[in-house]
Amino acid sequence: MLPAFLIKYAEIGVKGKNRYLFEDALVQQMKYALKRCEGEFAIRKTPGRIYLDALTECDFDEVVENLQTVFGISGICPMIYVEDEGFEKLKETVVKYVRDTYPDRNKTFKIMARRARKNYPLDTMELNASLGEAVLDAFPEMTVDVHNPDIYLYVEIREKIYLYSEIIPGPGGMPVGTNGKAMLLLSGGIDSPVAGYMISKRGVKIDAVYFHAPPYTSDRAKQKVIDLARQVSKYSGPIYLHIINFTDIQLAIYEKCPHEELTIIMRRYMMKIAETIAKETECLGLITGESIGQVASQTMHSLYATNEVCTIPVYRPCIGLDKQEIVEISEKIHTYETSILPFEDCCTIFVAKHPVTKPNLEYIKRHEENLKDVIDGLMETALSTRETIVVRCEDSV
Ligand code: ATP
Ligand code: MG
Repeated sequence: MLPAFLIKYAEIGVKGKNRYLFEDALVQQMKYALKRCEGEFAIRKTPGRIYLDALTECDFDEVVENLQTVFGISGICPMIYVEDEGFEKLKETVVKYVRDTYPDRNKTFKIMARRARKNYPLDTMELNASLGEAVLDAFPEMTVDVHNPDIYLYVEIREKIYLYSEIIPGPGGMPVGTNGKAMLLLSGGIDSPVAGYMISKRGVKIDAVYFHAPPYTSDRAKQKVIDLARQVSKYSGPIYLHIINFTDIQLAIYEKCPHEELTIIMRRYMMKIAETIAKETECLGLITGESIGQVASQTMHSLYATNEVCTIPVYRPCIGLDKQEIVEISEKIHTYETSILPFEDCCTIFVAKHPVTKPNLEYIKRHEENLKDVIDGLMETALSTRETIVVRCEDSV
């Protein structure tokens, strides 16, 4: 029998007319995820339910793994469905299902019958009782526990009869495409891919901007960021990645501003440029991987100074996480291995020996005045020479 799945999603935010938007986005994202799987599939939507049927042979684990990248899915239930050929046949099917699914049957269980078709000759109570009896007769080692069973055996009477008992957890969240778009400042580090993942999990589409500084940063560093974007795009859907040549701006800052303020001033220009692209591309906010106190440029004072240039919301989902907690998420979403590759980042190359940890905004602004003759032109050039590529996971080699 070809695999089939019942796809469960959390009901929150799915009320009323939003339900269709939510379900349509979920189906869209499922199709995107299934492109990575061998085989052909059909997705069926019925009110409140989404089913996935394999139409050809497929790799069960591969399908589950890819469905686990679809935000909005709370549970993936491997399911079988059979024609309704009368109650005696149904009892046999349920017994066979238990035999096939649970080699070790020293377990407690509960039948969870449900009739979506009210003309079925038995009602829900009768179904629960009679099917429970059939299982007990076939497997004396099993016992019923209606409060806390090891196995919930779901039997749904619809146009066909559906059986499932296992609920494999999905990633939760909201389907991407239900909540606008934001611009991720994506570096090659550990934190920003995690930040993108976390915001995307709330249904937000993502574009990204990466600042590089050739020849100080290499093509390999750039490729690393593309690889990270590709991994995040498994969850978020395709990402428009804007690659900005930041070299001349960095050199100008290096030449004209105090070195201990370099990082903060650089970060302020990064935010300004990211915001400009965000506004051009209908992004409603910026996303960074900042976390309070992690480095000098992320103290409360530094964040205050960086944030001051922004006029749109900046989302910092890692803000209260410890490094280890961020690492754990990056391992879970498989960005960690790429993030720790030792390629240079533009921030690390021009870094001062003793960066300020309590930048004074007035000083920073005064020192930025030193750039006033060149900076507008440099920003315009940086924006107009940007390279934009679409990164999607199926491009992976
Ligand atoms: P990450 O691990 O995300 O690189 P980090 O701990 O190295 O973060 P910083 O280098 O201070 O911290 O950067 C803070 C945030 O600024 C990053 O999370 C990212 O959102 C943004 N950022 C830093 N460098 C770049 C860059 N070269 N291109 C795009 N965004 C960047
Ligand atoms: Mg970094």
